[in-house]
Amino acid sequence: MADKHFAWNRACQVCGTLNLSVLYENQLAVIDGRDMSYSVTTCSHCGFHYANQLPKASSYQSYYRSLSKYDVTLSASSIPEIDNYRAEKVISFIQPYISLDKKVFDLGCGHGTLLNWFSMSGWSNIYGVDPAPNAADQANQLYGLSCITTGSLENAVSLNRLIEADLICLMGVLEHLPNLYDDLTLLLNSVKEDASILIEVPACERFTRGDFEPYGEFSLEHIQFFSASSLDRLMENFGFYPITSHILDLPPGTTDSLLSLYSRKQKTDNVIATDTALDEYMAESESKLQLGLSKIKSLVRQPVIIYGAGSHTARLLPYLDDCQVSQHIVGIVDGNTNLQGKQMGKWVIDVPEILINRCPDIPVLVSSYRSQNAINHVLSDIYPNPIITMYQL
Ligand SMILES: [Zn+2]
Repeated sequence: MADKHFAWNRACQVCGTLNLSVLYENQLAVIDGRDMSYSVTTCSHCGFHYANQLPKASSYQSYYRSLSKYDVTLSASSIPEIDNYRAEKVISFIQPYISLDKKVFDLGCGHGTLLNWFSMSGWSNIYGVDPAPNAADQANQLYGLSCITTGSLENAVSLNRLIEADLICLMGVLEHLPNLYDDLTLLLNSVKEDASILIEVPACERFTRGDFEPYGEFSLEHIQFFSASSLDRLMENFGFYPITSHILDLPPGTTDSLLSLYSRKQKTDNVIATDTALDEYMAESESKLQLGLSKIKSLVRQPVIIYGAGSHTARLLPYLDDCQVSQHIVGIVDGNTNLQGKQMGKWVIDVPEILINRCPDIPVLVSSYRSQNAINHVLSDIYPNPIITMYQL
């Protein structure tokens, strides 16, 4: 029995009104008993794009617990190159505005890569807070940092030192928080008058840059979709105005970041632009997806195996239901041992070798965007089955 959708109805986290239009139903197949579907909506008052009709918080917690990839021990060489690249860019962005004697707090600091860059660049008053139980240990092991406390954003507010912070970093945090407005109220009421706030979020303006998976930005974890204007509007509620802002180009496969630095300085006369950043993304996602679906519809009229049990498949299955393709699916396989044996929609996720070897004549549909071609190569080398791909990449 699925953990039925709770449909948590949220007011706009930027302007507080509950007057919205639905832009996209992000329907996802039920995974391991959890329905993580939500609606992508636009606030009719301020234009902010955010996820609504959310699953209950306990669904998120159990999702993170069962699929968590963050519980592994890290070595310095296993830190993704992009983490260091991003941190170096963040330091260059902040350097002209924050002198080395300032106290820096990184809230949601993970295993401390950015704090390590602050340290290497000459700041010595640095502190971090992260909810992951092993973040502090990892930061110590990786970088010799002992300045990280385990805790939530609420716990961070109760730390005595937070009131002394000159710079508070919220990097890749705001897009995740279901109670964003309340959390920010609590935090920003607890910081000193002349504190600066550095924020990094995925930049809505860049969702269509390069090669992108249709609707792939609507992940389970991201439930706020910021542009520079909606982030400015959010911060203005708390009396914070932008000092500087920049969109950071990141390598293919990673969404570019919006970096903005705020302080309580005098309000500028800049009129905040209307937020239309998601319109193009929606249109291009739909046409890419429909092109892929028409290929599937023309090729799948008989039994088919789905390869891949990730978020791409979770999103694809409701579409395959609608176009009467799902009745032909004999199984879903994935090489990830975390997923094998779990239920996805009507199917139990199988080990690829077992199912594909048992059915050498049945076509295999590759259900992934980013890894489509790599999977196609590997499967073609090992199995005689015909392979179906969705996208022209
Ligand atoms: Zn609004």
